[in-house]
Amino acid sequence: MSTSAITTRCSIVGGGPGGMMLGYLLARAGVDVVVLEKHADFLRDFRGDTIHPSTLELMRELGLLDAFLRLPHRKVERLVGEIGNVRITMAEFTRLSSACKFIAFMPQWDFLDFLADRGRRYAGFHLMMNAEATDLIERGGQVVGVQANTQSGVIEVSAHLVIGADGRHSVMRERAGLKVEDLGAPMDVLWMRLSRRPDDYAEVFGHFETGGILVMLDRGDYWQCAYVIRKGSAEEVMKGDIGDFRRIILALSPWLGERVNELKSWDDVKLLTVALDRLSQWYRKGLLCIGDAAHAMSPIGGVGINLAIQDAVAAANILAEPLRAGAVTVDHLARVQRRRQWPTWVTQAFQRTIQTRVIGPVLAGTAQPKLPFAVKLLNRFPALRAIPARFIGIGVRPEHIRTKEAAGA
Ligand SMILES: Cc1cc2nc3c(=O)[nH]c(=O)nc-3n(C[C@H](O)[C@H](O)[C@H](O)COP(=O)(O)OP(=O)(O)OC[C@H]3O[C@@H](n4cnc5c(N)ncnc54)[C@H](O)[C@@H]3O)c2cc1C
Repeated sequence: MSTSAITTRCSIVGGGPGGMMLGYLLARAGVDVVVLEKHADFLRDFRGDTIHPSTLELMRELGLLDAFLRLPHRKVERLVGEIGNVRITMAEFTRLSSACKFIAFMPQWDFLDFLADRGRRYAGFHLMMNAEATDLIERGGQVVGVQANTQSGVIEVSAHLVIGADGRHSVMRERAGLKVEDLGAPMDVLWMRLSRRPDDYAEVFGHFETGGILVMLDRGDYWQCAYVIRKGSAEEVMKGDIGDFRRIILALSPWLGERVNELKSWDDVKLLTVALDRLSQWYRKGLLCIGDAAHAMSPIGGVGINLAIQDAVAAANILAEPLRAGAVTVDHLARVQRRRQWPTWVTQAFQRTIQTRVIGPVLAGTAQPKLPFAVKLLNRFPALRAIPARFIGIGVRPEHIRTKEAAGA
């Protein structure tokens, strides 16, 4: 295996929503950028599918909305959950003032392929698939590049700035020695597919019962199901008989009927670990983390993708100009953190509250799932559903495109 070297202005590790959006925006602004993605394609089952109204708004600002909405997607105007036997509408996006009053449910690989396709129209956009970053390259206490394994050998990418957008198990933040504050998550997720019928419920659907939570995402001809378990209990659960597991799923959603038999063995069920954490400092000289690498989000509320994309937009707004000039300083990186830290804290505080007050006790079987007072109000006063819709759909501090498309790009 040989080692080859390339040089770029900005190397982004991770082709998830945060990394791909930042790569696209920087290339559009005339910055040479190399995105390294460890997988061969974006076809990962465990990627969330939510394209939020705020992201659709960004697409509009970029002039991409019409083309984007021509991709197959489903418009979800409200989020519905069941607690015990009571069905409640938790959020109603039609009440938002944004141009798109819905969440677009689209397999995330289509979203990422779209960004990759649009990015390739700019000379400075380089996406390397099958490229797994393994280490940072440092000189004199400063990060000056990244090392990666590719199919044709090891590459060294020298860059003025490295972005860690490599998700909640970020290697970049670990190699950089950035301090992680673990906020704790009481759950992990068992992830599986069950077929969907045209007359099934149309909304995203979560069901809470004592000891069990099942969330089902509509992916057209199948349900992507997330069965929430106590953190660390996967081995114990998966040691049991798959038939018992099928019965648990059936008890939570009896309308699935014989479809639970599609779970033939534990090979049909994957474990996804959940983390809720954040870096005290998102950067070092030559390196900045964004998205889950800076602050791992739990699936609660389906807001992590939105936050990662908003981080990317803020980073592009602040860094495009100094990147073009090759003059990014630690102060620029600190500005990105200052801008995005506050919305992250607020969102994580919300996720933590739901974890502690609802998910933890329900999973431990120490509490009957019951309608929290605020949720009762949502049922009684539908206008209030605009509040969670805004929180989930738009986020705490929405960002807007401030970068200009570079002349001749
Ligand atoms: C079970 C579960 C369900 C979720 N569902 C939702 C949802 O429905 N909606 C929502 O908004 N949020 C959801 N979230 C949260 C959401 O997944 C994250 O907050 C979001 O994906 C963060 O985006 P990101 O771009 O920062 O990182 P990621 O989406 O994790 O992307 C990181 C990318 O980096 C790549 N990578 C990793 N390491 C390397 C490396 N060393 N070299 C090169 N590439 C690398 C990965 O392959 C990946 O493509 C969920 C989380 C979990 C755990």
